[in-house]
Amino acid sequence: MIISDCHNHTGISSDSDTPMSDMIRSAIKKNIQIMCITEHMDFDFPKNYEYDFVFDPCEYFRQLEANSQKFAGDIKLLKGVELGLKENIACKCNTLLNDYKWDFIIGSIHLVDDIDPYYDEYWKLYGLDGAIKRYFETMYNNINEYHDFDALGHLDYVLRYAPGITKDIDISHSYELIDEILKFIIKKDIALEVNTSGYKTFLHNPNPSPAIIKRYRELGGKLITIGSDAHSPEYIGFHFEDVKKLLNSLGIHEYAIFENRKPDLREL
Ligand SMILES: [Zn+2]
Ligand SMILES: [Zn+2]
Repeated sequence: MIISDCHNHTGISSDSDTPMSDMIRSAIKKNIQIMCITEHMDFDFPKNYEYDFVFDPCEYFRQLEANSQKFAGDIKLLKGVELGLKENIACKCNTLLNDYKWDFIIGSIHLVDDIDPYYDEYWKLYGLDGAIKRYFETMYNNINEYHDFDALGHLDYVLRYAPGITKDIDISHSYELIDEILKFIIKKDIALEVNTSGYKTFLHNPNPSPAIIKRYRELGGKLITIGSDAHSPEYIGFHFEDVKKLLNSLGIHEYAIFENRKPDLREL
């Protein structure tokens, strides 16, 4: 059973307008016992987009503390952040991590060459295969430059936005790069996040896809974290039963919840 949701956002994140307390109430209703709220912090996000994806950590900790008291006995709240990785932000990341006491840090790639793959311009610029490959190249470079995080978020996130592709898209052109990424996180004891928001898309799978999770296992990876990436209450714990079945079918019977930046393994 999955008793925690370790990737979700509230109104503190630029792209959610749900009050933190509403997200927590939804988690309690869905029998989530431990919730790690991981707001977006994408330092130096380009200014030409709708959101800036940075938040005030003081306000986050103030709300989290107030809600921890309010819902004490019903749910345990952990302190997290989803760091958007890109070049030349290591100093800012280090400051954020040193200045506050976090339980769990997710490292995610949301930008490639300062373009968000969510938008068509990205796909027009690189073409389908080139755009996918460029995403993994960027991920590999970014995590080599900065890797003080606990889980690598939604590894094949780019596929969510590929125009006109089907679930069976061939990404064999990127297998070598993906292997290098997986080997790197295994070597650094960084967990692979299994993010269930992919079930919302035509992929109808978590991110990363089962083939990549399987490959992670083959390469010796053992640390998995699970999160919904919910930005609104209905998506807390989204498809957790399905992802449990999927992971079990891949021979995975444990997942990790990070507290004080240390993994606590739970039965899956
Ligand atoms: Zn993300
Ligand atoms: Zn997220």
